[in-house]
Amino acid sequence: MVFKQTNNYRNFIESELAKLAKNNLYRRLKLISVEKGRRGGTTATVDGKDNIINLCSNDYLGLSHNHKILRKTILSLKQISQCSSRLIAGNDPTLIELEEQLAEHRATETSLVYPTGYMANLGVITTLADKFTTIISDELNHASIIDGCRLSGAKIKVFRHNDMQDLEQSIQSIPSKRKKILVTEGVFSMDGDISNLQQICNLAKEHNAITVIDDAHGDFIFGGSSASSRFSGVPSYLGVNNDIDIHTGSLSKGLGCFGGYIASTRQTRELLINKSRQFIYTSALPKHLCISALAACPVATKGNLQQKLFENIEFVFRKLSQCGFKLNGSRSQIIPVIIGQEKIALEFSNQLLDNGVFVQAVRYPTVKKGSARLRISLTALNSKIQLRSAVDTFEMVGKKLKVI
Ligand code: PMP
Repeated sequence: MVFKQTNNYRNFIESELAKLAKNNLYRRLKLISVEKGRRGGTTATVDGKDNIINLCSNDYLGLSHNHKILRKTILSLKQISQCSSRLIAGNDPTLIELEEQLAEHRATETSLVYPTGYMANLGVITTLADKFTTIISDELNHASIIDGCRLSGAKIKVFRHNDMQDLEQSIQSIPSKRKKILVTEGVFSMDGDISNLQQICNLAKEHNAITVIDDAHGDFIFGGSSASSRFSGVPSYLGVNNDIDIHTGSLSKGLGCFGGYIASTRQTRELLINKSRQFIYTSALPKHLCISALAACPVATKGNLQQKLFENIEFVFRKLSQCGFKLNGSRSQIIPVIIGQEKIALEFSNQLLDNGVFVQAVRYPTVKKGSARLRISLTALNSKIQLRSAVDTFEMVGKKLKVI
């Protein structure tokens, strides 16, 4: 049967797609599977090309491949899902167990699991903010934060990335009686730099603003110096864990699982359960994914994997800097190689893949127009041999395309 399209509809779709292609912003899905590598680590098959070095995964500690975690996950599979929202019939005891574990991990009273990190951000922001609120948001905040801000109907003030003077001016200009929410990230997802949380918390206190920190990329990677706060995220790393009103995070990065969560006070949890539409009107995270996250937590907090990851970060950062690439202020496992023009970034990514290295070109609207980049994300499973080879390939392609 042929789907009948009206001329108007077809013209609209064709012109939208043509516009994207003309601006080098057309996105194509690549076919990707990840396997254990022949010489350690993991490799990927990308669009039929095998044995590719994968520098694109958010599975920073490599836990999605961990046999012990996988075995526990598989053994827990008695059903695919509860097929219900939490408030109806989906509140499995494993969710509560996971929330207790995550609250302990982040040193908060409680936590609340969402189906994804995206929904956790939407849930928190739309519950706390309304048209009587002003949200002050870093210009590089993730799309889920931006969408939450827009959906809430609040007034939005965007401050220059990590710029404390601009933030101060912004917050000072808001009437003191108005409800204020300051929202930023721990590790920024497309730049890999770390938020200036100490000053942000000071300004929030001074101006009576609620703080919401999305630490999707810092969680289980960075942390404080005490045994209990090791790897519990950027707020602990910067010594301001208790100054944050609401932490949000993802289970699909450092933990190598799937899902999202918030960590905060008991009352915040109660309010979200009662008012967050992204919590109420969707199905609960399936039990086997809770078991997976529960099994991953102790492995993710041992420290051996972070040590390997930071050795990899140091190596790649040093080598790419020596080659002359522009890497912004990254201090984490996310290393953006800034290219600028969308077309060159795409070409760079294609040539890397032709030579055995998978790094996606990130373009507008994920980043600003003209600031396209190759977003490297390193994992503890990348072997030194792979990284050496990847850096050599970057240098070769960079010279060929006159980026360096
Ligand atoms: N916050 C940030 C900063 C992210 O980068 C992402 C996704 N990459 C999310 C939230 C959403 O997390 P999830 O994939 O669990 O929806």
